[in-house]
Amino acid sequence: MAEEPRTLADLDPSLLGPEHTAFFLDFDGTLADFRDDPAAVVLPERERHTLAALAKAADGAVAIISGRPIADIDRMLDPLELPVAGVHGLERRNAGGEVFRTALPEAPLAAARARFQAMARLHPGLLIEEKPGSVALHFRRRPELEPQCLEIASSIVETHMELRMLHGKMVIEFKAGSATKADAIAAFLKEEPFRGRHPFFAGDDSTDEDAFNKILKLKGVSMKIGPGATIAAYRAADIDAFREWLAALTQQYNRTERSTAARA
Ligand SMILES: [Mg+2]
Repeated sequence: MAEEPRTLADLDPSLLGPEHTAFFLDFDGTLADFRDDPAAVVLPERERHTLAALAKAADGAVAIISGRPIADIDRMLDPLELPVAGVHGLERRNAGGEVFRTALPEAPLAAARARFQAMARLHPGLLIEEKPGSVALHFRRRPELEPQCLEIASSIVETHMELRMLHGKMVIEFKAGSATKADAIAAFLKEEPFRGRHPFFAGDDSTDEDAFNKILKLKGVSMKIGPGATIAAYRAADIDAFREWLAALTQQYNRTERSTAARA
């Protein structure tokens, strides 16, 4: 069994110098609060400022690593535009603005979508989210239906082994293609401005564990937000504790930069 992660207070901020850290951040449950309808989620103004200031301090080495499509993240960060990996690594836009997408077979996803739609017609409150290369069934409004949703999902898995199932918080998702959040982080780290930096990744869900594993192998800093089993090295008690910590860290960077400038 993995050791219990250390707390935010145990994390030495000098491990995360802005000039040698590559920041990778999950979005929902990490920067933005959950809503019953994922389309209703908003990024709080302070977090938008934190991200902008963090990107400035780290010379642009800040990327969002989300299950949402890139277009969704852009809309929520607007007017800020950051490098993004979307749909759990199926899409990626690098710091130079180049977009990479995995080519995917459509038929198995269409079959999964049809099964989810049939289920949603029977049970009002279930919500289907369609993304490039993926389809998700959200049961946040009908949590009692989790067992039935899982049952449908496992029957989809049996007939469509080429689909990858992700079971997150109040959501079951099928993704075509094997690219993961970990793959997206590895791809960013081969490019400027991330190359040669130590990676940091924060995420809240079981679907972030593959990325934590990658970060551990790369000797970076991995941080789980909220409760739940994890292999991450650090844990923030909840999303508010994490956002406070990130805002304070970013302010500290900017203070240091100002005082260095004043001395020069
Ligand atoms: Mg999340």
